[in-house]
Amino acid sequence: MEYDILIKNGKIIDGAGNPWYNAKVAIKDGKIAAIGKLGNPDAKKTIDAKGHIVAPGFIDAHSHADYNTLLYRDMENLTHQGITTVVAGQCGSTPAPLSELSRANMQKNFDDEIPEGYELKLTWSSFDDYLKEEEKEHLGANVAHMVGHGAVRAAAMGFDSRAPTNTELDKMRDYVEEAMQSGAFGLSTGLIYPPGIYAKTDEIIECAKVAAKYGGIYDSHIRGEGATLIAALEEALEIGFKANIPVQVSHHKIAIKDLWGSSEKTLQMFMEARSKGLDVTVDQYPYKAGSTSLMTLLPPWVHDGGREKALERLRDPQLRARMEKEIKEGIEGWENFAGTLGWENVYVTSVITDENKPVEGMNMVEIKKHRGAKDEFTALYELLLEEDGAPGMVIFYGHEDDVKRIMKHPLHMVGTDAGCCNVEGPFCIGKPHPRHYGTYPKVLGKYVREEQLITWEEAVRKMTSFPAQRFGLLDRGLLRPGMWADVTIFNPETVAELATYKAPHSFPAGIPYVIVNGSVTISEGVFTGDRSGVTLRKPVY
Ligand SMILES: [Zn+2]
Repeated sequence: MEYDILIKNGKIIDGAGNPWYNAKVAIKDGKIAAIGKLGNPDAKKTIDAKGHIVAPGFIDAHSHADYNTLLYRDMENLTHQGITTVVAGQCGSTPAPLSELSRANMQKNFDDEIPEGYELKLTWSSFDDYLKEEEKEHLGANVAHMVGHGAVRAAAMGFDSRAPTNTELDKMRDYVEEAMQSGAFGLSTGLIYPPGIYAKTDEIIECAKVAAKYGGIYDSHIRGEGATLIAALEEALEIGFKANIPVQVSHHKIAIKDLWGSSEKTLQMFMEARSKGLDVTVDQYPYKAGSTSLMTLLPPWVHDGGREKALERLRDPQLRARMEKEIKEGIEGWENFAGTLGWENVYVTSVITDENKPVEGMNMVEIKKHRGAKDEFTALYELLLEEDGAPGMVIFYGHEDDVKRIMKHPLHMVGTDAGCCNVEGPFCIGKPHPRHYGTYPKVLGKYVREEQLITWEEAVRKMTSFPAQRFGLLDRGLLRPGMWADVTIFNPETVAELATYKAPHSFPAGIPYVIVNGSVTISEGVFTGDRSGVTLRKPVY
């Protein structure tokens, strides 16, 4: 028999956490056909992996490759890291469902994220319609989707800061049901973002119960990762217990100096919940800084009713004064980044207008000086107004000891928290968080090779079979005959992140081959142009 691809001379790390061994890997018709000595069989293509590790393709447990995958299907920043499957639709924000209550606002958010000259009309309504849209063409990597509670809530009741009526809650349940029936892998929440921020625990439990019925998981950007971290984790666990659903804590971190070191306690909370029968796990990107929208610095009430309303409030001097007071003093239960971390730790990463381009990469103190503004508050309000609320930010909050303690823990898996971009061309925008390009090579290069915090085998497990198990992608994540042929070949001596905060648009070193569904996507470190990723739908049993 002639194989499509034969990989020889590599060390196999199979994804299960077992020690490496020597074998050849043969691929045929998109699947792994054989692993072993294999003699010298015929193959259309042979890859010599001498000095390299041959691993299952990496599965990104926490991805935002959803909105712009329809426009930028190559997903090069991800595949160059060795990622062959992403779990998108995180933090409550998903492209579907959409209704006339949410469409205009979502379209606006989307338009801000895409390059000039590109256009995409959000014409779908149901989750199934959206997946069909994505399925029209192949992708650089496979994409599995969660359904976002924020999208569900917005479709059912708009962006209002209030509890749903019974009818609206029924609608929310129906939306989650339709998404799960169409192949969503679970329910995600983003409880620091509008409209998720307006939801009480009971509402989320009701939605999670529907996802649970279909074997989905509850994946949460919890209500606070700083001062309110412990209470927010308790809420996530409560939702898991009451809805009887596995819980994934998204991008786990200790995001405030006062609590540095608390990962010891949080990891213990997870172990205790597990001992009581709750299947809880976490993902993390290996950095001390995070990234989100600059609008997140504003108190929750500012966002009531959607983006246009928020911008209107930003023009009102009295309301500005109220925002300033609340950022200075905090509001009970609200994740107040600027107030707790300080303006010097808030960096603007992207803007839309040419006039403001110089502030990309500056922190808010620098931006205040650059603009000659009276204070950081004024600089923030005016920048948000000039930029229509669209800027992104990077915030520095963490301590290396917490990052490492979480990474070492057996309940931890790796995720990027990144969308799609590229080192050149229209999708090379702003200065995104380096996790977009560096998450996986950083874990391998820095934490495995340089610091020996975890072994190669354990790192690969956290990138492959563990997320596969977590999301129910049981035909991926291991190198075994019969599995889909998603394979990443990397050099343990050279694999490294090259992206930095100042210059993030850079592919990593030491990952020469990436194979998706049996097709070579990255060859000798270069994108082949071959897109063979597909939309994955969770089977409904
Ligand atoms: Zn998030």
